[in-house]
Amino acid sequence: VAKLDRAAGSGDTRDKTRQQVVALIRSAGQIARIDIAAATGVSPATITAITQEMIQAGLVEEVAPEAGRSAAGRGRPRVSLKLRGDAHLVAGIKVSFRVLSLVMIDFEGNTVAEHVRPLTAPRLAPDDMVRDIQALLTEATAQLGLGIDGISGLGVGLAGTIDAIEGFVHWSPSLTKRNIALRDLLEAALPMPVFLDNDANLVAKAEQLFGEARGVRDFIVVTIEQGVGMGIVIDGEVFRGTRGCGAEFGHTKVHLDGALCRCGQRGCLEAYVADYALLREADVSIPLSTGKTPEERLALLFDAAHEGDPTACSIVRRASRMFAMGLANLVNIFDPRLVILSGERMSHDFLYSDEVLTEMHNAVVQVDAPPPEVKIHKWGDQMWAKGAAAYAMEGVTELAVRRLAVDA
Ligand SMILES: [Zn+2]
Repeated sequence: VAKLDRAAGSGDTRDKTRQQVVALIRSAGQIARIDIAAATGVSPATITAITQEMIQAGLVEEVAPEAGRSAAGRGRPRVSLKLRGDAHLVAGIKVSFRVLSLVMIDFEGNTVAEHVRPLTAPRLAPDDMVRDIQALLTEATAQLGLGIDGISGLGVGLAGTIDAIEGFVHWSPSLTKRNIALRDLLEAALPMPVFLDNDANLVAKAEQLFGEARGVRDFIVVTIEQGVGMGIVIDGEVFRGTRGCGAEFGHTKVHLDGALCRCGQRGCLEAYVADYALLREADVSIPLSTGKTPEERLALLFDAAHEGDPTACSIVRRASRMFAMGLANLVNIFDPRLVILSGERMSHDFLYSDEVLTEMHNAVVQVDAPPPEVKIHKWGDQMWAKGAAAYAMEGVTELAVRRLAVDA
């Protein structure tokens, strides 16, 4: 049974059991009380009492016997329990370079709505970011005929160094200022609890819940977007480090006194593989037309590399080799079962190439056991947003279940 990763709670055993029961019903879809008791090791009488509270609170409902799974052809069909989809509606937002992407899910995890809205600028003052998010929520809920207060919780994922527990942004490429208590700002402007996290952690969450990592306890997700991000899952839990700023794969050093990074330091992986790093190199000797967007210039660079332009090839090859070295370092430290390379745009295909994977395998500690599996999972902003929604749903569930404990 997966623990809810924010279930610090009161230490009350019954509260923990309630969290466990909801998580179990969520992962099973439908499940009979007796099977919940078997899976949790809690007495059937306690499970009956706990699920009765949940039914009364409108979180859980019974499924008619004919719709539920019957007991393998013998005895009468058992009543199953499922979560009540309309118990809570939550929203997840992914902050990208140019747009905000939103996904709304119901309490069962079904996608109810999707919405995209351009950001007023790629980097915003914190108050302007709050206003953009508020405007997106207003638009998206209006399309469902709801007010913004119809949403029980909001998850927000953005790039940068973020303390998820404190809801604090140490630094983000999306904000013009450092050290912002963004969760507090959002909660002051919005009527629902807000759950903030680094976007790569939310991709890890999404991979764990509905992606390539279902059933995998130890895995690493590397995200390639404007920058390079990483989510680490150890024994089923997202690992965040002491200050909530672990997993800064993009800022691990791959070169002493190397290229200058956006973070201000030198030799970071990102300073070799990110879009800006490639364009910086290209600017030196490849005449990419001025007046074009960074995306257009990047496309020209990749076209030149495909056509065999030696300079373009050397830029892309260096980035690939740096990336392979970085991946090998990760595998050597964590020895995960699975590494997922997750990115949105085709333009980064060179980072997913067989050459990169071969180079990585060559630099991994060699033993007589297969190296970790590497999966490539391309998905768009909507899936990142769904990860943010799933994270908010965990938070909302925890709060809803704690409320049961208070009422009991
Ligand atoms: Zn850096």
